[in-house]
Amino acid sequence: MKLNIPSDGAKITYEGTELAVPDNPIIPYIIGDGIGIDVTPVMKRVLDHAINKAYGNSRQIRWLELYAGSNSNDLYGSILPQKTIDAMKEYRISIKGPLTTPIGSGHKSINVMIRQKLDLFACVRPIKYFPGTSTPMAESGLTDMVVFRENTEDLYSGIEWEPNSDGAKRIIDFINKELGTSPFRFEENCGIGIKPVSEEGTKRLIRMAIDYALEMNKSSITIVHKGNIMKFTEGAFRDWSYDVVTSEYFGEIQPDGTYIIENKKFASKLLIKDCIADNFLQQIILAPEQHDVIATLNLNGDYISDALAAQVGGIGMAPGGNIGEGCAVFEATHGSAEPFAGKNRVNPGSIILSGEMMLRYMGWTEAADLVLKGVKGAIQKKQLTYDLARARAGKRLIRVKNTDKVTSVDIKEEITKLVPGATLVSTSGFGDAVINNL
Ligand code: NAD
Repeated sequence: MKLNIPSDGAKITYEGTELAVPDNPIIPYIIGDGIGIDVTPVMKRVLDHAINKAYGNSRQIRWLELYAGSNSNDLYGSILPQKTIDAMKEYRISIKGPLTTPIGSGHKSINVMIRQKLDLFACVRPIKYFPGTSTPMAESGLTDMVVFRENTEDLYSGIEWEPNSDGAKRIIDFINKELGTSPFRFEENCGIGIKPVSEEGTKRLIRMAIDYALEMNKSSITIVHKGNIMKFTEGAFRDWSYDVVTSEYFGEIQPDGTYIIENKKFASKLLIKDCIADNFLQQIILAPEQHDVIATLNLNGDYISDALAAQVGGIGMAPGGNIGEGCAVFEATHGSAEPFAGKNRVNPGSIILSGEMMLRYMGWTEAADLVLKGVKGAIQKKQLTYDLARARAGKRLIRVKNTDKVTSVDIKEEITKLVPGATLVSTSGFGDAVINNL
């Protein structure tokens, strides 16, 4: 596999604890499977415009295409070539479209492999409402959270054995005989998965969440766990998190069992509390304003991030970044939505906003601010992709339920009637609308 390394670009370096970003950084990208082909080029175009508007010609990203997923398999016979992983490590900051994972059989998730191989231990998902999007909440603006999801451990580690496999039988046998306990209801046809949660893995995640909360002057962190049932994994996650709060950040316990950390930079207080995962899922609907930064384990974080994304208008608009020590991969949080691939129809908002997170992570805040302004402006001016338009029109929009069976002209007319002033735009059209509003 030959990579087309831009000769006029420079590497981002990591010195001590700081990234050093040159004015012409080489940024690798993976187009992704399915709708990646629609959304990823739009993201690149929007970011290039924002950077140009913010800095003129003095700063420019030099894009480097990497291969993973189905196109990589076709071209190079591997869904995740070692060269791709090596380049993501070498150039430190990259961005990717969605990658398909077969259900129940086939290869492991490429996304999970990337996170594990690069040790990207935190999945960061900001959840914010954009005025003009339609949500299922009565007061949409009350949901404003940043989720820090542990990204390398838990049931997501991929340590599992098929029912009736030799591995599953041996584990069941070991637990029955060696540990002297028989917890299995049906041993014969029982799949096995292992849930590792470590002190080191927990502590580095909670440190990142606390540092972020202090830096951004956030008011609280909620540690979300199911420690009442899974005491030695999720319960330990809670206890190790509070250890960090008291021993490293001098948090003081309050009469109600919560902790307070003094934020010296802003002369304010950061509240640390914890919540059992099922209770948390009802609280984010009933009282979302009570939660600010969320720190949680891998599987909880997966469910919570999508539930919260739905509360602010859907996964088409939710960005994400996977962050480790001096290395980060930003990504569209939705999947590859294969039936829509190549139709120039889906919403590129998620990967554009992931690009915005990437610019901010690089320290290019002026360009990041412009991208945000562009997305807000496009939505406020009702330049809507079909998913945003459908949400605005609600149940009244009957025909868009199966967009393949009607012509886009039909839909456009219907949207204009149901959402006065709205224009239905394509994936690339949304990119144009963002650029026009930078
Ligand atoms: P999906 O996100 O691909 O699709 C779910 C539905 O969401 C689609 O029917 C579509 O209507 C809608 N949708 C998704 N992205 C949209 C967008 N940008 N604009 C408008 N609507 C959008 O989820 P899925 O069907 O569960 O997964 C399909 C594949 O993607 C699976 O193989 C899965 O493993 C993979 N996946 C990858 C990632 C990733 O790469 N980070 C994340 C989730 C799922």
